[in-house]
Amino acid sequence: MAYRDTLEFLLHDWLRLGDLLQRPRFEDHSRETVTAVLDTCERIARDKYAPFNRLVDTEEPRFDGERVILPQATHEAWKAYAESGMLSASQDADIGGLQLPYLVESAANTFFAKASVSIGAGMLTTGNANLLMAHGNPAQQQVFAMAEFAGRWAGTMCLSEPQAGSSLSDITTRAVPDDGGDGAAGRACAWDTDPLGPRYRLRGNKMWISAGEHELTENIVHLVLAKIPGPDGALVPGTRGISLFVVPKRMVDATGRLTGERNDVALAGLNHKCGWRGTTNTLLNFGEGRFRPRSGVGGGLDGQGAGAVGWLVGRPGEGLRCMFHMMNEARIGVGLAATMLGFAGYEAALDYALQRPQGRPVGAAGKDPSRPQVRIVEHADVKRMLLAQKAYCEGALALELYCARLVDEQRTGEGATAKEASLLLEVLTPIAKSWPSEWCLEANSLAIQVHGGYGYTRDFPVEQYWRDNRLNMIHEGTHGIQALDLLGRKVVMDGGAGLALLGSRVEATALRAQADTQLAGFAQALATAWDQVAAATHQAWDGASPEEALANATPYLQAFGHAVIAWIWLDVALACRGEAPPTPAAQGRLSAMRYFFAYELPRLDAWLGVVARREAVCREMREDAF
Ligand SMILES: Cc1cc2nc3c(=O)[nH]c(=O)nc-3n(C[C@H](O)[C@H](O)[C@H](O)COP(=O)(O)OP(=O)(O)OC[C@H]3O[C@@H](n4cnc5c(N)ncnc54)[C@H](O)[C@@H]3O)c2cc1C
Repeated sequence: MAYRDTLEFLLHDWLRLGDLLQRPRFEDHSRETVTAVLDTCERIARDKYAPFNRLVDTEEPRFDGERVILPQATHEAWKAYAESGMLSASQDADIGGLQLPYLVESAANTFFAKASVSIGAGMLTTGNANLLMAHGNPAQQQVFAMAEFAGRWAGTMCLSEPQAGSSLSDITTRAVPDDGGDGAAGRACAWDTDPLGPRYRLRGNKMWISAGEHELTENIVHLVLAKIPGPDGALVPGTRGISLFVVPKRMVDATGRLTGERNDVALAGLNHKCGWRGTTNTLLNFGEGRFRPRSGVGGGLDGQGAGAVGWLVGRPGEGLRCMFHMMNEARIGVGLAATMLGFAGYEAALDYALQRPQGRPVGAAGKDPSRPQVRIVEHADVKRMLLAQKAYCEGALALELYCARLVDEQRTGEGATAKEASLLLEVLTPIAKSWPSEWCLEANSLAIQVHGGYGYTRDFPVEQYWRDNRLNMIHEGTHGIQALDLLGRKVVMDGGAGLALLGSRVEATALRAQADTQLAGFAQALATAWDQVAAATHQAWDGASPEEALANATPYLQAFGHAVIAWIWLDVALACRGEAPPTPAAQGRLSAMRYFFAYELPRLDAWLGVVARREAVCREMREDAF
């Protein structure tokens, strides 16, 4: 089935995009304008991304001591993406945005992720600018966000440090008010009346920063988490002490003009990655003294200070809260990237299986060597691997688009529905990030398997998809951290309100499916699975310490994710049941749903078993016994 058809089915037949387009915010859009956006993105992805996916893998970014060098193809891909308007796809029309639903923005971005996730599109830049539109002051929005939406500047998110990845409360980057010079000889300078916001000097090291250095754009806008020391000079422990700063690579004045000075953000080194090599990954030193930008934007001081200049975004101590604005979008983006890598592998595997002759059918006929070989797609085991990929990738795509639809509901829905959408997103975001990261990676592994030995070579694309995809379980909160977030926070918050609401959605689907004779058995299986999840949630916490309850958070995440995907698949199946006789596309979806219920859902027993009985073997394992 062509990918575009799958996408159109999910958008229009399943998620009823047409209803969303009736809302006042989207009144300038119609099915035709959406089709035009999808056509444009599909074309750019086909022409400017897909042909260069291998090139950017083999020609890794290089630092010549001054500049980071990327292939010309990456420059051209960025230019085409920026010119498409996608960087401000969901922003207001009066600031130059396309004012599209987030659902359409997400759907359109899938083409780029499938063509070359490695080159990357604008996820970080758009997320960075969107955060500034939500939490920045008007000057920050005008200067930084607008330049990002136009594609003149690019964005990053700088959270991690060499010693602080999962545990952001332990970051040590410091931000002190920039009152001129380095506090000793400098003339006093009003740091808190700067037109761009309260001005600080930052010092510290940020590790793993994606797109942290390049020449694709004339400037790079770093959003940096740092701590403002208390009066005693000590950093406030925990996340409460974390604030957010906008720190450009090149200094700007209050009107957004480049002043010609370099800010003190220096590339300490490029990381050499397993995959996703088209995008730089950097260790950045803030305020190491390599550059000495002057204080006082717009006619301030002559004296040159120490530290990277950054302007506070939002209020002090609220950095992580503001950053979450970017991280939630980023997590849906990561889930979609993982999904599309899975899809790319699935398409390659299907193509290969339809052509590769190998072996003969099982049974008497197959024993006759004079008979021609069959194509491997005819073997049941190869069909199993292809169906698994289809079930993982289409299921994951449906989940991500469902979540994107919830983002639109949250933004444009009526009071109660908007609130419900927010609550559902809270519970579903860890799954949206982690489920495709694990299972579409497994799809890539199966795609290699379908290719046999050829899959293990660099002459075929599937090994690169696996390497590119391997990142997704690590960044944006590791798998383990997502699991702790789900079981430790999301399903128990507000007395379990989010879990109950999701349960009611699952139940509604099961009830509809119950009325359909062909789907009733699946409805029953889904209801049982969801009851198991709810019971295990209760048993995990029942009188237990967090240490006991959370020791099996990852199997819980896996079970929860599988139950969610079973629900999504059954709901998708309901949307296929209108047609009699079913089209091949509908038959394919129904088979993928059946596969998921037959081969995947039974895994819940093992995962939830250890959760419910609070299996202690991992927690109790002695270090010296390993
Ligand atoms: C290619 C790449 C791109 C990245 N891009 C960015 C970026 O643009 N900006 C940015 O800020 N960061 C970025 N990151 C950083 C990424 O978010 C971190 O790598 C990630 O958060 C994990 O941190 P860590 O590497 O320090 O591992 P650690 O936090 O040391 O974790 C190591 C292992 O221990 C587990 N673990 C840690 N703490 C706990 C706990 N409390 N309970 C149970 N298990 C635990 C983890 O799950 C993991 O398996 C990127 C990373 C990579 C590899």
